[in-house]
Amino acid sequence: MMKQLILESVITCPACGYQKTEIMPEDACQIFYECENCHAVLKPKPGDCCVFCSFGSVPCPPVQAAGHQ
Ligand SMILES: [Zn+2]
Repeated sequence: MMKQLILESVITCPACGYQKTEIMPEDACQIFYECENCHAVLKPKPGDCCVFCSFGSVPCPPVQAAGHQ
């Protein structure tokens, strides 16, 4: 049974607090993300696989699929 994956994530910049809804790639992890507002380049926190897991409102699709939500 396939789980319904959430592909929209609201990413919050830790530097300036700017929030933006991004569509996550379904089968890849995004390591870098540049904040549109302050242009800080975000990187995953230790233990997280991608910026969506660290700063997004939902974990990235591969993590959702693995059931570590
Ligand atoms: Zn920012």
